[in-house]
Amino acid sequence: MKIGLVGLGLIGGSMGLDLRNYGFEVLGVSRKQKTCQQALDLGAVDEASTDLSLLKSVDLIYICTPINTITPILKQLIPHLQPQTIVTDVGSVKKPVVEECSHLWSNFVGGHPMAGKAEQGIEAAQKGLFIKAAYVLTPTSTTPQLAIDSVGEIATILGCQLSICSPETHDRAVAWISHLPAMVSASLIAACMEELDPSVLQLAQNLASSGFRDTSRVGGGNPELGEMMARYNSSQLLNALCQYRQSLDTIIKFIQQEDWCSLQEFLQATQDARSNFL
Ligand code: NAP
Repeated sequence: MKIGLVGLGLIGGSMGLDLRNYGFEVLGVSRKQKTCQQALDLGAVDEASTDLSLLKSVDLIYICTPINTITPILKQLIPHLQPQTIVTDVGSVKKPVVEECSHLWSNFVGGHPMAGKAEQGIEAAQKGLFIKAAYVLTPTSTTPQLAIDSVGEIATILGCQLSICSPETHDRAVAWISHLPAMVSASLIAACMEELDPSVLQLAQNLASSGFRDTSRVGGGNPELGEMMARYNSSQLLNALCQYRQSLDTIIKFIQQEDWCSLQEFLQATQDARSNFL
């Protein structure tokens, strides 16, 4: 099977490395010639170009570019596609992307591998990034079964756990476990930077260890991606942020009132609940 990748960054590059490893022929298109060359050097693609016509003979295409570019890229791709070519994307928000892309290309199925890291670009691409990760497909009532099955089968080959839901349900669920944590983690770093005494701030920076590393990781990630998540999933993210603010207010109230018993019960409930997420 011949697979096309558009966008050879963290996700596209990582996908190329694994797909080639599993015996697929991979053709990649990226915006910059330099990125194409890096992808070739890394072994993430068999051929690379800045020209979408490279993908005219592939069976399946993954669009792995920033969320706001997915629909425009599909529009530019269409003149080069065979009628049976399946197109999917890896964007972190599904409803607006799926609505537009399904309309443009009937053989489109939205997808989202739930794997990533703070770094971006082809330099950050790594083998095995998707192993044990969830891979969500978000078909609509008109998505062809063959498209769902083909993308699902490859997700399984990549070592992912497949999940299928509507684009709306996906966006609501990832607001809680991906988009909210990105904003919370960024707020944590921003709050620490508000320390007024430079020597205390310096000491805090020197003392920061695994706890801070874990809780600040997603807030220190790709700012463009964070902005796109917020822009394209704003209502679900705002809902999650407002609920989070209420949780913070609850904690503040317990501490102000020295209600240690309630605080401990709250923390016991969160300790118990955490394992349901991971
Ligand atoms: P990234 O590392 O910044 O890579 C995006 C790549 O897209 C860049 O290398 C860029 O290539 C290319 N690109 C940008 N505009 C383009 C265009 N108009 N035409 C062709 N190529 C273009 O970003 P990423 O983290 O891989 O994210 C890509 C997608 O994956 C996003 O939709 C994101 O929502 C989704 N996603 C991200 C994560 C994550 O944690 N990072 C996880 C799951 C899904 P050049 O270098 O050639 O400019």
